[in-house]
Amino acid sequence: MCFAPRTQGFQPGVKALKNPPDSSHLFESGAFLIAQKPDPLFAARGLAKAYEQKFLLKNLRVPMANSGWEHVDVAIVGAGLVGGTLGCALASHGVKTVLVDQFDPGAMTEGRFDGRASAVAAGGQRLLSAIGVWPHLTGHSEPIREIRVSDGDAPLFLHYAYTDVGDEFLGNMAENRHLRMATFARMKELESTLRLIAPAGISHMSESSDAATLHLSDGREIRASLVVTAEGRQSKLREAAGIKLTGWSYSQVAIVATIGHEKPHNGIAHERFLPAGPFAILPLPDDAGVHRSSLVWTERAESVSAYLALNDAHFLAEIDERVGGFLGRLSLIGPRFSYPLSLQFAHTYTKGRLVLVGDAAHGIHPIAGQGVNLGYRDVAALTEAIVDARRLGLDIANPDVLGRYERWRRADNMMMAGVTDVLTRLFSNDVAPIKAARDVGLALVNRIPALKRVFMRHAMGTTGDLPRLMRAPL
Ligand SMILES: Cc1cc2nc3c(=O)[nH]c(=O)nc-3n(C[C@H](O)[C@H](O)[C@H](O)COP(=O)(O)OP(=O)(O)OC[C@H]3O[C@@H](n4cnc5c(N)ncnc54)[C@H](O)[C@@H]3O)c2cc1C
Repeated sequence: MCFAPRTQGFQPGVKALKNPPDSSHLFESGAFLIAQKPDPLFAARGLAKAYEQKFLLKNLRVPMANSGWEHVDVAIVGAGLVGGTLGCALASHGVKTVLVDQFDPGAMTEGRFDGRASAVAAGGQRLLSAIGVWPHLTGHSEPIREIRVSDGDAPLFLHYAYTDVGDEFLGNMAENRHLRMATFARMKELESTLRLIAPAGISHMSESSDAATLHLSDGREIRASLVVTAEGRQSKLREAAGIKLTGWSYSQVAIVATIGHEKPHNGIAHERFLPAGPFAILPLPDDAGVHRSSLVWTERAESVSAYLALNDAHFLAEIDERVGGFLGRLSLIGPRFSYPLSLQFAHTYTKGRLVLVGDAAHGIHPIAGQGVNLGYRDVAALTEAIVDARRLGLDIANPDVLGRYERWRRADNMMMAGVTDVLTRLFSNDVAPIKAARDVGLALVNRIPALKRVFMRHAMGTTGDLPRLMRAPL
């Protein structure tokens, strides 16, 4: 058993009154959090500045007035994890691409921009390797060798080891800022076919029979055969196109932080299901001799502000209580973040010359660490559809081409949305008969190696109708 039982129940409302908010805590701004005062660690190291200098990000922001870039094959709005990767994938295949993002690349790689780390499944790693992004993550990713899933204090747990399915790791953990940085570094190498315009806002998109035009808020225009929205959950282009969404809130919020710990994690990811939601500790690479993990601690929405308001010592004590001491003494590295959790899916992925990828098309609960991995599969499938269409001399926004992408991706995305929804509902409660049933289920899966392998291969993204960029072994 990896976690010790929880001790005394926490009374957030009461504790919050006794412990006034620490001024280093964070407040929410849009989809992410901004520190109220600079975090000393990141400020002292000047990481963002160093990155900007290392990769000369400013050189990527070439004005559209430069000749040859007025009409491109693909314009992508959103240079996040999915949009940035799509840009690199297309440009690696000679597809002339412009990326637009509302934020400066330097800001997007700062420690306080996004506190999350992502479990990049084996399929995602194949894609990032194939398009030349993975080498830029050297030293910034940690293999997931084992996963241990437990249900509260129950003695049974489900154990996955990468050696059960072959020699590829179950996945690799990487901080989102490093994933972004790796795509920016790859973009720099692809300058002959890729341009990043950032920071830049979008005014609207218009369409003619042979092209779409993106109108930027500063008056610049980008003509493209195809426009992709990788704007995330709040996609403006999706909304402007009248594409409907279905979704619901889980009334849960994920508290995210990076923790340092005395004992090594040995590449083991832990997920413990607690009544308020899953509590995950995910292995990160050591930094300056400090063992580190990424914490994703899900709580009921109404309790979260009280937890975030705790001072560092009390906040760490709450974490320690859930971890149960197996990592030794804990410390907090950098700021805390919080992300409200919901599920949403777009009714269609394409309309005219517009196509949706990543969270703009589907946003799921992080219970299984699959959101960006679905986005990576979108990237690999859309790249293949576009590259094949160009080889045949077709318009890349041809309904057959975009329809192929949508058919390819919709079923897989919907299935994962359904699985994560069921898991979230099944495990985020303390109802005795349900708990007993799910514990038996975990134990059964653990004892049937063939069934375990099926689950593992799905989670690794190495099974099913894989696009070419995800098929080849590393
Ligand atoms: C707590 C938590 C943990 C998670 N852990 C994992 C995990 O371990 N593994 C996993 O696979 N997934 C995980 N996910 C899911 C994953 O983070 C998301 O699926 C992923 O970030 C989506 O990427 P995206 O590029 O589609 O969207 P976003 O990350 O939202 O990026 C959108 C980009 O578009 C830009 N943008 C938006 N609108 C505009 C506009 N109008 N003009 C210009 N630019 C614009 C934004 O600035 C941003 O850069 C987690 C999610 C949460 C909440």
